[in-house]
Amino acid sequence: MINYSRQSIDNDDIEAVVQALKSDFITGGKRVEEFEEALCRYVGTKYAVAMNSATSSLHVAYLCAELKKDDEIITTPLTFMATSNAALMVGAKPVFCDVKSDANIDENKIESLISPKTKAIVPVDFGGKPVEIQKIKSICKKHNLLLIEDSCHALGSEFNGKKVGIDADIAIFSFHAIKPITTCGEGGALVTNSKEIYKRAKLLRSHAIEKKRVWNSDAFELGYNYRMSDISASLGISQLKKLDRFIEKREQIAKFYDKTFKGNPYFYTQKLPAHIKSSYHLYPIFLDRSLWCAKEEIYEELHKRGIGVQVHYKPVYQFSLYKNLFKEQKLHNAEEVYKSELSIPCHQEMSLEDAKFVAINLMDVLKKQNHCRK
Ligand SMILES: *Cc1c(COP(=O)(O)O)cnc(C)c1O
Repeated sequence: MINYSRQSIDNDDIEAVVQALKSDFITGGKRVEEFEEALCRYVGTKYAVAMNSATSSLHVAYLCAELKKDDEIITTPLTFMATSNAALMVGAKPVFCDVKSDANIDENKIESLISPKTKAIVPVDFGGKPVEIQKIKSICKKHNLLLIEDSCHALGSEFNGKKVGIDADIAIFSFHAIKPITTCGEGGALVTNSKEIYKRAKLLRSHAIEKKRVWNSDAFELGYNYRMSDISASLGISQLKKLDRFIEKREQIAKFYDKTFKGNPYFYTQKLPAHIKSSYHLYPIFLDRSLWCAKEEIYEELHKRGIGVQVHYKPVYQFSLYKNLFKEQKLHNAEEVYKSELSIPCHQEMSLEDAKFVAINLMDVLKKQNHCRK
């Protein structure tokens, strides 16, 4: 099966993890700091705090934003539900903003959703395509809101020549197995230029315990165990060195797809203007509405042929958890993107031959779906 995404682990990675396993500290050692420094150098921020997942990092980011019960964040429904679930963890309410045809949040629809309770705006760089960060940043500035960018797909993406994450107050990255790089299957981090946020995030990551004299310590608030181990960090350090190579490879696959699919009657793809660069975490295609009714069959037929496509995402407000907590809602473009989107395989372990196989089979499967065309 050629999956829509997958990890790459080579001998250097394995050797790095073995070395970490053999060292005195397999957690709480120096490798986590080393990884954080490498992340800062890569993204260009002053601080990074590595954690055991991006979900933990989002939770900590919302705590750093002082989100309290009944406060609101504005975010996209087309995301992995952790983005808004972490807001629920602190008692806050996610307000969902509609998206554009590329599945990124519609920056022009954000301002009308701002209320006196709004504390933060949380866009997601869908598939690795950066959101319109400068426009969103100016909205945040005007209304005195925090900009928390869920960049879980977008480590290595760029906007106007700058790495994604650098323009937000806090940006979140995921190192889950199939994200742009991995740290032993699970992991995440937040990056920031604020010393205050950095210090608070570090505290909350580890029970909010502050060291005093000798063995004595104290805690002033509730913290968590969201620490990353040195084993995970060792893989992160090794993987980060290869990220640009991974992205180059994914870009090669994506460019091949772009060329092959140009002008086809079945779907459109994300447009990437010259001032942005994608990490190509996903290669989403958006089916023509005449094919929406056949999407389940298309999905199943592609899986039968060994092509592990996936759908990103069921709008978060459609989950029963959200329907039961909030009023039922429907955002027009989010619904349409959900009906049309399929992520086809695009990762650094694929060859161009694999991409050709995907393209030929995709076209063949779509061609045979005539019955639902009107
Ligand atoms: C993967 C992902 C998360 C959660 O990341 P974990 O590291 O699995 O907790 C959050 N938001 C988005 C957009 C994601 O893709």
